[in-house]
Amino acid sequence: MRTSHRPPHYLAMEHISDHDLECYYLGLLSAEGPKAEALEEHLLRCRECVEHAEESDRYVDAVRGLLIRGNFDLG
Ligand SMILES: [Zn+2]
Repeated sequence: MRTSHRPPHYLAMEHISDHDLECYYLGLLSAEGPKAEALEEHLLRCRECVEHAEESDRYVDAVRGLLIRGNFDLG
């Protein structure tokens, strides 16, 4: 039996970090194309990260809404 089966590319990637998810949803990863692509591919395969991403998506939407309304300057 062969045991040298290599995992697909996406499995070689670590789970996506909160930071990367936030950057991705804020559009900060687009300049780094390959990273954003790997992240998207991972999301296609990893349910765990999808659930995580949905939470981050809501968080980022909230942040984005604050930025758009200019309500971030409440200090
Ligand atoms: Zn994952």
